[in-house]
Formats: sequence, structure tokens, C-alpha cells
Amino acid sequence: MNREEIFDGLRQSPKVDVCVLGGGINGLSVFRELALQGVNVVLVEKHDFCSGASAALSRMVHGGLRYLENGEFSLVRESLVERDRLLRNAPHYVGPLPTTVPVFDFFSGIANGAVRFLGLSRRPSRRGAVVIKAGLAIYDFLTRKRALMPRHEFRGRRSTLGRWPALNPAIKSSATYYDAWVSQPERLGVELLEDALSAGAGVRAVNYAELRLTAPGRYAVRDTISGAEVSIEPTLIVNATGGWIDIANQGLFSEPARPAPLMGGTKGSHLIVDNDDLTRALDGHMIYYENEDGRICILFPYLGKVLVGSTDIRVDDPETVRCETEERDYILQSLAFVLPAIKIRTEEIVFQFSGVRPLPASKDSFTGRIPRDHYCTFVETADGGPPVLCMIGGKWTTFRSFGELAADQVLERLARARRISTSERPIGGGRDFPADREAWIARVAAASGLSSERVETLFKRYGTDAERIAAFTAAAPDTPLPHAGYSSREIQLLIRSEKVEHLDDLLLRRTTLAITGELSLDMADAVLALLAAEKRWSAARQAQERARFLTLLLERHGVDEDTLSARNEQRSALCETTARSG
Ligand SMILES: Cc1cc2nc3c(=O)[nH]c(=O)nc-3n(C[C@H](O)[C@H](O)[C@H](O)COP(=O)(O)OP(=O)(O)OC[C@H]3O[C@@H](n4cnc5c(N)ncnc54)[C@H](O)[C@@H]3O)c2cc1C
Repeated sequence: MNREEIFDGLRQSPKVDVCVLGGGINGLSVFRELALQGVNVVLVEKHDFCSGASAALSRMVHGGLRYLENGEFSLVRESLVERDRLLRNAPHYVGPLPTTVPVFDFFSGIANGAVRFLGLSRRPSRRGAVVIKAGLAIYDFLTRKRALMPRHEFRGRRSTLGRWPALNPAIKSSATYYDAWVSQPERLGVELLEDALSAGAGVRAVNYAELRLTAPGRYAVRDTISGAEVSIEPTLIVNATGGWIDIANQGLFSEPARPAPLMGGTKGSHLIVDNDDLTRALDGHMIYYENEDGRICILFPYLGKVLVGSTDIRVDDPETVRCETEERDYILQSLAFVLPAIKIRTEEIVFQFSGVRPLPASKDSFTGRIPRDHYCTFVETADGGPPVLCMIGGKWTTFRSFGELAADQVLERLARARRISTSERPIGGGRDFPADREAWIARVAAASGLSSERVETLFKRYGTDAERIAAFTAAAPDTPLPHAGYSSREIQLLIRSEKVEHLDDLLLRRTTLAITGELSLDMADAVLALLAAEKRWSAARQAQERARFLTLLLERHGVDEDTLSARNEQRSALCETTARSG
């Protein structure tokens, strides 16, 4: 169903069971849960799907080792269960992540940990080997029955420096344990969306749209691209706008009915660094370390580069957050502390990103100590409108269980029964995931006529969805694009089937072109030409889109047009070398 059909449908029958506001991972999750139970549900996302915090996470799918020191045991247990489900249900995007913690002390943190646990202090402090050992023992205990990954182990100083010689020589030992990471969280969000939309005609989702209060208790959905507006009469609203929850509530309730603030977000930023010495220094592990001030930072190999982060700063409005110079300096300083031998040049930062953690309102002065748990609460409107279920908090890792919790509360209100559980339901390209990957690739290559190298690339990018993409790609003449890994038919399919409305949807979220620092100006222009042809955009509209994308890339991600142009030349040089050596 395209946008026009969605708006026409609502015009003809404005009554819907549920309207979900917010298409981040939590909004998509509750939307999918409700859709699969046969509920007539409409999702309204103000920007693009997974463009807020759900594109800004550290890309860890984890229990949250450090939440143990805040006493959040049930959150850690739930997160570990969900982590393990994601390893099974989305193996194409979620994989094991060996994680090493450098230890600088033996005993420190014990007294502080006890004091904090008793609620007497919230200040962060250094964590010694004994405290880390206790945390990892709890981790192992909580996962002992499933045991999908190895248990933790400690290494002495010499053995640690033997394996990671670039680590700060002041270390005393290290601990290695296993968590998980997600390669393409934005694409996993789109797959949840597709799963929900496959449930039936009463399930609709629109990005670049807003829900507007037109009179007390009355609403309209406005298409922010065309300006069209249509009334909607939901029985219930779910506010899943994460860091925007209080701002969204201001737009949902007339003044006297507005609830008290529910959220107190903190901003976090990350850098993507292209430095071979750094990649080598990690030896395939995430380094989960404490900076000198006691803040936890991370770095791990990410799609051929290294992801480093993050900061934790209180903010009220997530709309325009970006990585500020001081944050970048802080992250680089923390890196210099843990790996003093590695020198990072500014031009090796190929991308940066920021987002706001949707944390429950808290007066805690130390941001790292704000509870990470999630909950839902109904706010009844005093002005005759539908009740609003607010989803507060929620890590990326727990999106499924949080969506399930919210959906169950909605179903209870609607007096409807749950039909399906999503706990063991594979997601998107994780369906029918092959045990024998080589055989799968050979079969799809033979069926589609594409080379096995090409099918392998598609498989890495889309999991078993690669079969559908390979068939589409092979069904008509295809042309290579300046980025040799992509072709015009592949991009066309993304445009047609994944609700792409702007160039940035494609370059920032449906593909990993920008985040990996692989995007060149020629490639951006080639993708824009394909998008313009599909959407029948005028030359003026194309120019507008190009300017919009370049501004976003510079302001939010620290990448300028000259850098993209320079990548044109690097790519041509690479192609020439490959052609000569071939
Ligand atoms: C720096 C950082 C690091 C993190 N690292 C991790 C990690 O490693 N692992 C982990 O599990 N979690 C991590 N998290 C947490 C995780 O990213 C978030 O908890 C999760 O993505 C929140 O999803 P959400 O859907 O609630 O919010 P968002 O993804 O922010 O979605 C909210 C959506 O609502 C939309 N919206 C806003 N207002 C309106 C409106 N009025 N109408 C319609 N739509 C609206 C926004 O455009 C947005 O798309 C991290 C978060 C941050 C910021």
C-alpha cells in the first residue's frame, strides 16, 4: 500500500483500533505485535523509521553488565533472554561479540559497589577484578541453561598484553566474555515493519507524517511530504516516541489534560574510525573499558572499520542532537588512554552519530546511574479522547519483550486475545537461515543466474531475503553502480518495497553506505538518479534532495562534500589497480 492509498483508506474509514506514534524499534515492535494479533493498527512516524535512537545505539545486543551494579538484575536477565532470542531469530544481523575488559585494579570498586547497592552513593568509581569477576559470574549464571556462547575467562597481564600488545601497559589483567552485536539495526527495523504489514489490509504504516490534535480529543494524520491531512478516530493511542515522549504528549493532549514529564534522556555519540592499526589491535574483540573518569566506553570492529563510543549527557530535545567537538575529543582521549600506542588522525573519523537514550525521568546527577528498565503507563484524556499508552525507557536489545508488554496492555483494553507469540518468530532475512551457507549460495546463484560472489554479497547484506533480491535483480537488465558492491536493480527494489521517501533513507538507513565511510559523491548521485526516476522528481526536487542529504551528512555526521568527492578519486584509483592486476 503506498502513501496515497493509506491516506485514501483512512479518509473512507477513519476508525482504527490503535494508532502507534513513533517508528523507532520500540514503536515498530508494538506495531508488529498488534498487527500479528489481527488488530487494525496504523503507525505514524514523524521522520523515517529507525532514524532516532534506534539508529544511534552502540550496536550492542547485550545483557548490560554495568546495570548489575545499579541492582537491575531483572532487566539484565530479560536482556540476556532477548539477546539469545535475537541470536536465533535474526542470525543475519545479530552475531556473537567476544568482549574483553581490561582490568586496572584488583579490589577497587568493592566498597563503592556495596555502598551504591545500598543506595548511599551514585558516583561512578573504578571497577577492580573482583567486582568484574562477580558481574561476569552472574552473567554466566543467568545464561547457564541456554549456554549459546562460552563462559567468561580471566587472563593475567602478560597473556593479555601478548594478545593485545597495544593495550595500556598499566593493566593488571583482563576478562573476556561474550555478548552480541547488531550489524544493521535500521534494516532489522524495516524487517519488523514488513512482518507487520504482511498481516493484513487493516495494518498500515506511514513515515514522514504527524498526528495532530485538531480539537480536544480529536486527531488528524498529516502527511508532511504532500501536506494532505485526514481525520483519524483511534480507540487507543500508543506513544512510542522514545526521547520525544513528553514533546509528543504536548501535541496529544489539550493543556489541562497533559501528563507530567515521563522522560529524562541522555545523549550519546559515537565515531566510526578507519585505521588499520586500530582494527588489528582489537584482534576481533570488543574492548569494553573504563575511561579515567570511571565512564564505560566501548570499541569494536564494525563492518571493516571500528566503532568507538560513547558519551552520556542530559538533553531535553532529541530533534537536533549531533556529536559536538568536546564529545569527539572525549572519545578520542578515552581511546588514547586504553590504546596509547594508536594514533588517530581526524580524517580517519569517517562518520559520527548521536542519539538520545529514552530513559525514565530521574533526578540522579550521574547519568550512568539512571535506571535502564522500561515500563508502560496509560494516560487517560480528560477531554473525551482515546487513552494513550506511553512506552517509557527500553533498550534496543529488549525491543521484542517491551513491544509484547505494551501490546498485552493494549489487547486487555480492547478485550482481545493474543493469537501469536513472537518469542521464537524469525525476523526477515533470518527466516529459514541455512546451516550450510555455501550450499544455499550455490543454489540461489544457480536459480537466479547471478554469480556466487554476488549472491554472497546479497546474503551478507540481507540474509535469506537475498533470494528475493537476487530473483528481482536477475529478472531485467541490471547496471553496476559506482560502488561496485551495489547494482541499480537492488537499489530500485529497496525504493519500491521499503517506504523510501528521501535520499537519506537509502544512504543512511536502508544501506550501510554512509556509516561505513564507503559513500562517494558519484555513488550518492547515482542513487539519487534512480530515486528521482522512480518518484518522477523534477530537476528542482532532485537538487533539493541532494542539498538536504549533504546538509544532514555534514551537520549530523561530520562528513563534508569534499570528503565524498575525494572518495570518487580513491574509488577510480582502486578500480584501475584492480583492472591492471586482473
Ligand atoms: C548513544 C546510545 C547508545 C545506545 N546503545 C545501545 C546498545 O548498544 N544496545 C541497546 O540495546 N540499546 C542501546 N541504546 C538504547 C536504544 O538505542 C534505545 O533505547 C532504542 O533505540 C529506543 O527506541 P525507541 O523506538 O523507543 O526510540 P527512537 O528510536 O528514538 O524512536 C522514536 C521515534 O519517534 C519518532 N517521533 C518523535 N515524535 C513523534 C511524533 N510526534 N509523532 C510520530 N513520531 C514521532 C521519532 O522520529 C523516532 O523515530 C543506546 C542509545 C543511545 C542513544
